[in-house]
Amino acid sequence: MIFDTHIHLNDEKLYENLDLYLKEAKEVGVSDFLCVGYDLESSKRAIEIANKYNNVYAAIGFIPTEWKKWTTSSIANLEELLKKSSKIVAIGEIGLDYYWEKEENVKKIQKLMFISQIELANKYDLPISIHSRDSIQDTYDILKNYPCVNKGIMHCYSGSLEMSKEFIKIGYKIAFGGVLTFKNAIEIKRILKQTDLKNVVLETDAPYLSPVPHRGKVNEPKFILDTAKFAANLLQINLEEFENITYQNSLDILKLN
Ligand SMILES: [Zn+2]
Repeated sequence: MIFDTHIHLNDEKLYENLDLYLKEAKEVGVSDFLCVGYDLESSKRAIEIANKYNNVYAAIGFIPTEWKKWTTSSIANLEELLKKSSKIVAIGEIGLDYYWEKEENVKKIQKLMFISQIELANKYDLPISIHSRDSIQDTYDILKNYPCVNKGIMHCYSGSLEMSKEFIKIGYKIAFGGVLTFKNAIEIKRILKQTDLKNVVLETDAPYLSPVPHRGKVNEPKFILDTAKFAANLLQINLEEFENITYQNSLDILKLN
């Protein structure tokens, strides 16, 4: 069984054909999904999907790149959703993104969004799903100074091996996705090899970042099997064993046990 800890079933590309995509995923052993929001509308849709499908859970929140949509009512809007659905198991994706945004005042807004959403996670006793791009030190500093009680998942981790160890030290799991299978992705392979398996989870980030041999195409939920096989092979362990361990890690961090 595989748990996809970061997928956008709420994205138009997948949403249009959900029944089929989820059926095909199930056929190859992908059993559970965390459908992640990135603004208010996508968060609402994540909940709608989670309410419809048994094995789909929702994460709600504002991704840092959507800072223009962040208002003084955003937290209240998210809280309204939190009160209505029991399928929300995380706040996310939240974090910092300096790849797209390099202006100091924008970074300041992103930090404020990040911190207030960590506080929201703490208020509702939830873990967080973290988006961090070109901002690894600031992301770490915020998690250190404004800790999320239930910790969370470093989605699409792209920092160094050294930093991955720091995140693990403060309780975070590292999510590995399609990028792992890219030929030029050297560091992430090194990180997987050096990370204790109990801190590893899987993700697709579908419809983005398709693993090899689907690179460049729309990422489908079932393609997570290609990433799982690649990872198990890299670690020289049995695929089923790898699936079981990462599945259990996902249940643990999302408190679904
Ligand atoms: Zn995402």
